[in-house]
Amino acid sequence: MSNYIPVIGLEIHSELLTNSKVFCTCSAEFGGDRNSRCCPVCTGMPGTLPIINQTAVEYAVKAGYALGCSINKFSVFDRKNYFYPDLPKAYQISQLNLPLCINGMVPIEYEENGVKKSKNIRINRIHLEEDAGKLVHDDLNGVSLADYNRCGIPLIEIVTEPDISSAEEARCFVEKIALLLQYAGVSDCKMEQGSIRCDVNVSIMKPEDTEFGTRAEIKNLNSLKSIYRTIEYEIKRQARILDHGGRIVQETRRFDDNRGETKSMRSKEDAKDYRYFPDPDLPPIHISDAWIEKIKAEQPELREVKQARYQEEYGLPAYDAGILTESRHLAGLFEETAA
Ligand code: ADP
Ligand code: MG
Ligand code: ZN
Repeated sequence: MSNYIPVIGLEIHSELLTNSKVFCTCSAEFGGDRNSRCCPVCTGMPGTLPIINQTAVEYAVKAGYALGCSINKFSVFDRKNYFYPDLPKAYQISQLNLPLCINGMVPIEYEENGVKKSKNIRINRIHLEEDAGKLVHDDLNGVSLADYNRCGIPLIEIVTEPDISSAEEARCFVEKIALLLQYAGVSDCKMEQGSIRCDVNVSIMKPEDTEFGTRAEIKNLNSLKSIYRTIEYEIKRQARILDHGGRIVQETRRFDDNRGETKSMRSKEDAKDYRYFPDPDLPPIHISDAWIEKIKAEQPELREVKQARYQEEYGLPAYDAGILTESRHLAGLFEETAA
């Protein structure tokens, strides 16, 4: 196989830990009997109007700070139109041109061939949107059932620049994001419950190339292991095609966990396919300086700060301080014990 450089960008969806949904007062808690947590707004009944949940905006801003972003004080909701039964309104309320947060940076540390490395991954944007419902496909009876409890749960989408170069870097990055969001207290990032999900964009290029290659997007990965395996598989698949003189088509693919392969789902849609337009039912969000100050004041101590403090205050080695601050829960336990 020739020598290729992988180019990887991630889109991470994470559910926010608000009590209620983002545009109605239904409970946003995970689970519940099917279709027991919905109302006319989140099931898209004609004539209903959305009202923004202020806490969802606050949490998205807190996520922005945790990931080193700038906050847009003027931000707009857009309709992303698509027709699929997981979303009864036939459009998702999202943000296109004026997202809440932009231009962040997240440092990662990882190991490559036994050598410790570090790198900064740039964040392009974080926008606020609503989650879609869940479809349960009952192949036995030949029907699909829709559960709308998840419809309208607030989500942030974190979009990276294509700064990631390997499966290991991607794994470390997602782990780091989960940690930062948990620390900030805005998401529990439980992969097994789907509260954090990841789309992976992968292309490869030759060292002498001046432009990125064509990317494939692999949707909806819900474990660190499947993110890792998908990227490894996809790099090899694309290299094999290019080595045989073929070309990569831009498309959306799906990872088959059992077979360890990615499969084509559909050709990739562009922003124009979604006919985005500003949502006329929702006014733009203005974030005042006073509000920003309040949000900043509520920010919990970041991990790096805590880690440095433990070294100073308790005379701990960096390694120990690192372990103890790995989760906010463990850090809390340690502080209570120390006290
Ligand atoms: P879309 O909605 O079409 O997926 P986005 O701009 O939301 O577009 O996301 C694009 C993602 O793909 C970003 O994470 C970006 O870094 C990544 N990306 C863009 N170009 C490439 C490329 N050539 N190879 C790999 N990743 C790419
Ligand atoms: Mg995408
Ligand atoms: Zn509702």
